[in-house]
Amino acid sequence: MSEIKNIAVIGGGTMGNGICHVFAMNGFNVQLVETKQEFADRAMSTIEKNLDRMVKKEKISSDEKDATLEHINPNLDLPKAVSNADLIVEAVPEVYDLKKKIFEQVDEHAPDHAVIASNTSSISITKLAACTDRPEKFIGMHFFNPVPVMKLVEVINGLETDESVTELIMETTKKLGKVAVPANDSPGFVSNRVLMPMINEAIFCVYEGVATAENVDEVMKLGMAHPMGPLRLADFIGLDVCLDILDVLYEGFKDPKYRPCPLLVKMVDAGKLGDKTGEGFYKR
Ligand code: NAD
Repeated sequence: MSEIKNIAVIGGGTMGNGICHVFAMNGFNVQLVETKQEFADRAMSTIEKNLDRMVKKEKISSDEKDATLEHINPNLDLPKAVSNADLIVEAVPEVYDLKKKIFEQVDEHAPDHAVIASNTSSISITKLAACTDRPEKFIGMHFFNPVPVMKLVEVINGLETDESVTELIMETTKKLGKVAVPANDSPGFVSNRVLMPMINEAIFCVYEGVATAENVDEVMKLGMAHPMGPLRLADFIGLDVCLDILDVLYEGFKDPKYRPCPLLVKMVDAGKLGDKTGEGFYKR
């Protein structure tokens, strides 16, 4: 496989619609796969809204917006959608059993040359690759939210990922105008292994009464030049997502340094999940 042209993105939620957006805007043919028409419609209308914003800011022309939308075909039929794909990017919820079912189906219906990628934030790429008969053509493509804005794609090699596949995905990522940074499979990869302990430590500061959430964030913004404080970022990511990732690190390394702060556990138990529920460390 020397060049990727046809993409199938499985899941059109927060990440999936952004992934469709950037591939289509850069001339790739995209199949957006969802389970229900209403979800596919919602994904397409989010993409259109985000493209409108780019037109307004004069980042793209309205012709480019139209061309981008023309490159995306919403599809409810996964086997058909992947049958002509060179690259499949999975972006369904972070549930191993769901992803496993999808990879088995994708592996059965995608052409032999196709590369399969997962946008998982925390599940082992090696373990997901083992759901297919092509672990050498399986890789992690970890995009960041919001996908059309964020420059980074962490490219994660599973134990058996072929070097040529890594190179192809690094090249393809560059064609999206993004920066591909390679990493080897390990709990949390690089991004969450470094970010989540920082967020957890910020939560411990609040828990122990060292400082308020606002003051912890102020220290990190003004003292370390972070554009957003760790607790504001935790609210944006979702406190339940932060807790799940800390649990993956804790289980994966069996190291108490990843122990989630009891305050984080309590807030998740109380349903205070951050922006998505209107309250976390901050009220929206
Ligand atoms: P989401 O819940 O917003 O979207 C998931 C979408 O998948 C939904 O639209 C759902 O209808 C669809 N879906 C479910 N089952 C499906 C199936 N069988 N076939 C096709 N579509 C199906 O989730 P998200 O936040 O976009 O996360 C997706 C993945 O990306 C997860 O693995 C997550 O860990 C990872 N991730 C998320 C973020 C983030 O900030 N949200 C960042 C990086 C990576």
